[in-house]
Formats: sequence, C-alpha cells, structure tokens
Amino acid sequence: MTTEFIDKKETIYDFYDRIDVECPDCGAHAIVRNTTDKSWMFSPRRFSCTSCGKHKEWKESGLGAVTDSDPYFGYKLWFLANSCGHTLFALNEKHLDFLHSYVEATHRKRPRKENDEMIRNGTLASRFPAWMKSAKNRDDVLRSIEKLKQNKGSANKAVLTTPEAAPPTS
Ligand SMILES: [Zn+2]
Repeated sequence: MTTEFIDKKETIYDFYDRIDVECPDCGAHAIVRNTTDKSWMFSPRRFSCTSCGKHKEWKESGLGAVTDSDPYFGYKLWFLANSCGHTLFALNEKHLDFLHSYVEATHRKRPRKENDEMIRNGTLASRFPAWMKSAKNRDDVLRSIEKLKQNKGSANKAVLTTPEAAPPTS
C-alpha cells in the first residue's frame, strides 16, 4: 500500500497559535496561546499553567527560533523526543499529526505548476531534515511520534526518560 503526502504549503507558523510547553515552575503541561482572533505570529500570546496558576503575557516583536523551546517565552516544548539520535519536536498535536502524515507517506508530492518558488521552498514539508525523510528511519520516527501522541497530557519526563535512566521508585 502506498501512502501519499501532499504539500499544502504549511509553514511552521501555521502551528504557532497554540503551543504546548512544559511549565518552567512546576513542570506540568501548559499552553502558550494566541489571545486574538487573528492568526498571526506576532499577535499577543499568553502563557498559562492550570497546575500552578503561573501566567505570563507576551507582547513583543522579537521571536526566538523553534528548537526544543517555544519561540515566545523560550519554555521547553511539551512534545519532545529523541529519535534516531536527533531531537523530534512538535508545537502541538496538529503539528504532530502533520509530522506523522509526512513521515508515514511513501509518496510525497509537492505542488506543481506554481510560480511562487519562494513559498514552495519555504514550506515545512520542503524543509524536512534528511533523517526524518529517510525510509530506513521511518518506523523509528513513527514510533516516536506515536509515543508522543499517546503521552499527551502526562509528564514530559515519562516520554524522555529511558528505563535505565529512570530514578528508583520508592
Ligand atoms: Zn505550572
């Protein structure tokens, strides 16, 4: 069976409206959310943690790069995993689903007959790192994504901690 992925020109910014992070104070699952109706990367953001009540507003114009932390406050992303020796991250569940459909696909299509070469080359799908595109890594990467999907809402550490490194339970 072949699975097809069609590049709908998503960019990383399409996933910025809601970002799942780890609360820097209590380590619980928390959210950085766009507080306006306008889906724009520079719209004001609010961080809120329902576990400890911490909240913070973002109204600046400087954005950080997405690595393993969110671009607004620099808090650690919730959906993080080690996969094939690399860091796999997703901003939210929608982004996880996007990654899943890309990695799972055996056929990947880019939009054709379009003049907007700039946008085409800037889409998320066109910038996938080689290790995630590699067919030999497909199963491992998919497993990591599945694991993250299943672990939504539970402690991030449970995802990242390997059995050997787990602290002894008392
Ligand atoms: Zn908290």
